[in-house]
Amino acid sequence: MTPRELLAAIPPVSPPLTLVQEQWPTPVTQPFMPPLAEYMPYLQTIWANRWLTNSGPFHQELERALEQHLGVPHLSLISNGTTALWIALQALRIGGEVITTPFSFVATAHALRLVGATPVFVDIDEADCNLSPQGIEAAITERTTAILPVHCFGHPCDVKAIGEVADIHDLKVIYDAAHAFGVQADGSSILCHGDLSTVSFHATKVFSTIEGGAIISPDARTKAKIDRLRNFGFVGDMTLAGASINGKLNELQAAFGLLQLRYIDDIIARRAAISARYHSALAEMAGIMPFHAIGATTLNHAYFPVRVTEEYAVSSDTLCRELQSVGIMARRYFHPLICDMPGYRDLPSARQALPVARRIARQILCLPIHANLSDEQVDRAVGILARA
Ligand SMILES: *Cc1c(COP(=O)(O)O)cnc(C)c1O
Repeated sequence: MTPRELLAAIPPVSPPLTLVQEQWPTPVTQPFMPPLAEYMPYLQTIWANRWLTNSGPFHQELERALEQHLGVPHLSLISNGTTALWIALQALRIGGEVITTPFSFVATAHALRLVGATPVFVDIDEADCNLSPQGIEAAITERTTAILPVHCFGHPCDVKAIGEVADIHDLKVIYDAAHAFGVQADGSSILCHGDLSTVSFHATKVFSTIEGGAIISPDARTKAKIDRLRNFGFVGDMTLAGASINGKLNELQAAFGLLQLRYIDDIIARRAAISARYHSALAEMAGIMPFHAIGATTLNHAYFPVRVTEEYAVSSDTLCRELQSVGIMARRYFHPLICDMPGYRDLPSARQALPVARRIARQILCLPIHANLSDEQVDRAVGILARA
């Protein structure tokens, strides 16, 4: 049976899958688990054909299914999002100075370090926590080779302005789109901008293959190069194009991804409903400022970040601990800033003021959001925020 026939042959879950399963404490995010019964036929197939990895049938089918679902031309599955970033940077031969954001997960800057490039941190915009295009332009030197922006919290960067700066100064653009699965702007995938985009399918992300990730390439030639770089540098079975890493995803994870994809619309719809519930409850709350994404036509509601401003009774740090003490595991993504971490804080660009990033890092708080979160749990979190 082909993977597609297998999927079609799996009966729908009966009774229909309910997404909400109360859990206590409430994690900030939680992986969606497809029904175990639906995973079994995949495992049986894998056991029968003994094809565990190296571009097996489920791997091939997931690449095709994701290209179609996301509306992207060419997608390469990779073992995780960090390796995807490393391979993307290698594919474009990025070195020298790369302009990037301090307000992200450490993997963004680590990938630059791992290819021997120097991160140059630039301040972010208050409205969406993304790299400021004006800040990028001001930081360009003759050593700058590329820009590595992040669509932070799945909110699209100003891709048009960043593209213009890159064109004028002849720079590559690699988007760390780890948070941006399924996000669209102007009716098309946000993953189609820049020279390459990378995503993460880690268990904490909206769409997951347990560990995993992908690179989106604009053309078949670039995809072929990426596919070589994830497979030790092999061209075909015997010829080597150069040294590279093992960045492959296996069949068990690809099968898990195919099942996730079956539920992804329901997962994101549930996240959207939670986001709307938070927004309406928090709209009038003094000192709590949710974000409103700019320019997105479809969001994935990967996170629910708020700013805890000076108007609020306590700091974001205190509020986070208050929530956690009652089992609502809010998290301060992204505090501290990457530029304030060991290994980065001695860089010249890390010693700048970066006033917006530093203020937002102080104020940020991410509230729980995932497909299994109940309305009651949202209301409980809101109740703590209201200090009622
Ligand atoms: C999760 C994440 C990564 C790394 O992805 P992994 O799959 O965990 O390696 C990179 N960048 C950002 C912004 C992330 O949130």
